[in-house]
Amino acid sequence: MNGLARERGRQAPYGRAVAAQANVSGANVKPDSGRAAGAKTAGDGRPIVELRDVHQAFGHLEVLKGITFSVPKGGVVCIIGPSGSGKSTLLRCINGLVPIRSGSIRVADFDVHELVTDREKIALRKEVSMVFQQYNLFPHRTALDNVMMAPIHVLNEPRDEVRERALALLAKVGLASKRDAYPGELSGGQQQRVAIARALAMRPEVMLFDEVTAALDPETVKEVLNTIRQLAREGMTCILVTHEMRFAREIADCVLFTDGGTIVESGPPAELFDRPQKERTRAFLSQIL
Ligand code: ADP
Ligand code: MG
Repeated sequence: MNGLARERGRQAPYGRAVAAQANVSGANVKPDSGRAAGAKTAGDGRPIVELRDVHQAFGHLEVLKGITFSVPKGGVVCIIGPSGSGKSTLLRCINGLVPIRSGSIRVADFDVHELVTDREKIALRKEVSMVFQQYNLFPHRTALDNVMMAPIHVLNEPRDEVRERALALLAKVGLASKRDAYPGELSGGQQQRVAIARALAMRPEVMLFDEVTAALDPETVKEVLNTIRQLAREGMTCILVTHEMRFAREIADCVLFTDGGTIVESGPPAELFDRPQKERTRAFLSQIL
């Protein structure tokens, strides 16, 4: 169940589940070593997200070169790495927005790249929702309408029910009073929180965040991170690409460092940030920390 409060951040990371196990040769992840007894998995005991040897390319440009990792239900994984290393592409592959060349990606019960019918593709939208750096809100729709649109038009859910849920979600992201505002009347941080509410309106099991604070003014970054922190604490499975290293350290169960389309190294934040094993990881961290 998603609502299970995990009190993330109030315990040492090692006290909780190690969310992702990246099967990267040489990576310092010890599968199962940190798994708390209460670690959540998909109902059948499988991780809720599982990537196996995923390869992806745009034409001749190989972007992902064998990505393998999994996330238990309720796990929080942060992906860090240099620009162009394939982080956004990886999230888009998990969401089914970008086709893969080989390997497999499973989210809940869906083999993401084997979905054929529209009905299957819509069903995937209920499992995994993504938030982008650019909020992409509809400019001529109010905040409330933006949050309501997908459940009504994609899922065909009853308007009244969707409206109730959308109002609750706007309150959850701290924007109850902005329900009738248009995107142009909101700050970047507020628009991004509307975008998060919109993604949550699909009632996903998994949320993907792609550098969602990168385009924001510094003073509004915090409000967006607070919203994500709250979701994570409530037990939402989250995969985030972020450059907010302090935030990653605080909320992640596992950090993946990607470079050149591979996972160079992965592990709990305290290990990856403080005791990186690979020279490439050390070089990257020394540049940004
Ligand atoms: P990151 O998010 O880590 O910065 P991306 O996943 O955006 O990296 O990009 C990885 C590589 O794939 C880059 O070289 C980028 O130019 C290329 N790329 C991304 N999207 C496309 C696309 N739609 N068509 C062609 N090349 C792309
Ligand atoms: Mg990117």
